[in-house]
Amino acid sequence: MAIDTMDIEKVVKAVLEKIDKKGHSMKEETIGVQNPGKGIFSNMDMAIEAAWKAQKKFFKEYNLEDRNRIIQTIREELMENVEALARLGVDDTGMGRYEDKLVKNKLTIEKTPGVEDLKAEVYTGDSGLALIEFSPYGVIGAITPSTNPSETVICNSIGMIAAGNSVVFSPHPGAKKISMKTIEIINTAIEKAGGPENLIVTVDNPSIENAQKMMTHEKIKMIVATGGPGVVKSAMSKGKKAIGAGAGNPPALVDETADIEKAARDIIAGCSFDNNLPCIAEKEVIVVDSVADYLIFSMKKENVYHLENRENIDRLLKIVFDEKGRLNRKYVGKDAKFILNSAGIKCEKDVRAVIMEVKKDHPFVLEELMMPILPIVRVKDIEEGINLAVAVEQGNRHTAIMHSKNIDNLTRFAREVETTIFVKNAPSYAGLGYGGEGYATFTIAGPTGEGLTSTRSFARKRKCSLVGGFSIK
Ligand code: NAD
Repeated sequence: MAIDTMDIEKVVKAVLEKIDKKGHSMKEETIGVQNPGKGIFSNMDMAIEAAWKAQKKFFKEYNLEDRNRIIQTIREELMENVEALARLGVDDTGMGRYEDKLVKNKLTIEKTPGVEDLKAEVYTGDSGLALIEFSPYGVIGAITPSTNPSETVICNSIGMIAAGNSVVFSPHPGAKKISMKTIEIINTAIEKAGGPENLIVTVDNPSIENAQKMMTHEKIKMIVATGGPGVVKSAMSKGKKAIGAGAGNPPALVDETADIEKAARDIIAGCSFDNNLPCIAEKEVIVVDSVADYLIFSMKKENVYHLENRENIDRLLKIVFDEKGRLNRKYVGKDAKFILNSAGIKCEKDVRAVIMEVKKDHPFVLEELMMPILPIVRVKDIEEGINLAVAVEQGNRHTAIMHSKNIDNLTRFAREVETTIFVKNAPSYAGLGYGGEGYATFTIAGPTGEGLTSTRSFARKRKCSLVGGFSIK
């Protein structure tokens, strides 16, 4: 076979380009790197290898004070870029609302716990001393959703680094730009604070295949999956430690003792927050008959579109689900006005949500829509209300909201629904620490039981026992 000299020249040129002036091969880590120093790789194996090396260095050479400084710099760098992140979050995914994404990002930057969350346990007695300490897992594989893309990368990064790990992210392909931008900003901050390179990495071609590759890689010691039931199930089946933060369908239950006007305000605020994208957002309302009309009347004062006509509800139903009854992703996280107009229902005002009264088995009630569409179901009394709310939550153990002043009713529903988050008399986002107490996270692990994840969720408990000393009682 004749070899073209041009071909030989091309090959030689390519090889020479991989050799530096001193005649050494280029550093292995930089081959396949899309954006050197910012953690973006074009190959999953390379990304994991780089994160593995980074974690070894991090654990060996950096102490808790260093981790604290790095986390603080990450918060500052992210806050400087928060408007850009909120804007890109909307532009890249085509979902949500800028002003709400701003709130979500700020909340995560400020209220995600850091190193202080690692509190050791101590046992002392006649035999000496035992310490239970929180240690890193090593490299964590984190799968993140399209609905809160930057927020999940931020809270996972802060908690996982604070616990001494490195992280390989596998973002949703539909949120690639925003996820990569967030990762780049975090890496810039780590560099600024003198931290190791590649503590947070990802690939420039996120996909389900790459996520699977990441989860099964032997150097990934823990998987954290934030998303729908498919990915959570897959993560839990890999034979290694997994945290699953899965789907929800949060009901908001209203009884006759509630402050109805406040309940209406809170429910619309929660349900329309970022166009209903948060997994904790109110997805349906269940209200006792005696106050149902007043609740709907009060909601109508909150800049909503009230769909009264059955035909229009059916029109909406037709576009929200496809012919096979599957959720139409085209409308997830979209503005209520856009959804209404797409259904042929004229709406000129930028309304926050669409409300309508439906039967308890309507698809809007049973499916997690993630759109500002709020179905309302009327029940005869609290007994029926609790039973229905428990049924529509569907055992997700995610979030439930209740508006009531009756302690017995509140306690009964909280016990029966068994959700990870239970919000009383406030918008659902109070459960994430926005207008409510406690820290923030966008990885709420109902299925695996860690609850609202924080630094200690990403650390292993290890025991150190000293016998015959340090007992000064
Ligand atoms: P999604 O399940 O479509 O995707 C989530 C992530 O999983 C993405 O990165 C995706 O690429 C990946 N993925 C999906 N199937 C996979 C598979 N078989 N193997 C490997 N990776 C896979 O979810 P989404 O639309 O991005 O987010 C919305 C869903 O996530 C909702 O159900 C919502 O309730 C849930 N969610 C839960 C929490 C929580 O904290 N519990 C937070 C945010 C979102």
